[in-house]
Amino acid sequence: MKKKIAIIGAGIAGLTLANLLKKHTDHEFMVYEREESLSLEEGYGIQLATNSIKILNQINFDKINNEKIFHPKTIDFYNIQNKKICDLNLSKFNSNEAKYTTLQRSTLIEFLKEDIYTQHLRSI
Ligand SMILES: Cc1cc2nc3c(=O)[nH]c(=O)nc-3n(C[C@H](O)[C@H](O)[C@H](O)COP(=O)(O)OP(=O)(O)OC[C@H]3O[C@@H](n4cnc5c(N)ncnc54)[C@H](O)[C@@H]3O)c2cc1C
Repeated sequence: MKKKIAIIGAGIAGLTLANLLKKHTDHEFMVYEREESLSLEEGYGIQLATNSIKILNQINFDKINNEKIFHPKTIDFYNIQNKKICDLNLSKFNSNEAKYTTLQRSTLIEFLKEDIYTQHLRSI
């Protein structure tokens, strides 16, 4: 008998799990979201460390349009007086398969909902 799985919340975590289940298992699943629709507002970015990229690559994130993502090489840290304190070399965490990545949050949600939206997502 197939397992039935309910995922509560269509945030990044819920949608990622749904994609992993769809790609790698034959379990039945449904994502339940309390909001009427997913927020696809532009303007907010998200930064993804290499471990999250490794997980997303399992659901073909590596095929995403390169123009929609950016791989910063360093992060600068500033104090409240806007004086630089230090920087962090992000490149040393990168590998060929997984690079520190920034993109619009909406781009990530669009990517994650593409295969899930119609069949596996319900507003409650
Ligand atoms: C301003 C800001 C900037 C951030 N920037 C980054 C960043 O750059 N990089 C990063 O990794 N993280 C960042 N974060 C954290 C980031 O938001 C989380 O890592 C990510 O969104 C968490 O995803 P999630 O799916 O766990 O939760 P959420 O994105 O919060 O999704 C939870 C979903 O569950 C739904 N829900 C909740 N309760 C119920 C219920 N009872 N029934 C049904 N649905 C329900 C909610 O409506 C929501 O859609 C940031 C957070 C904030 C506030």
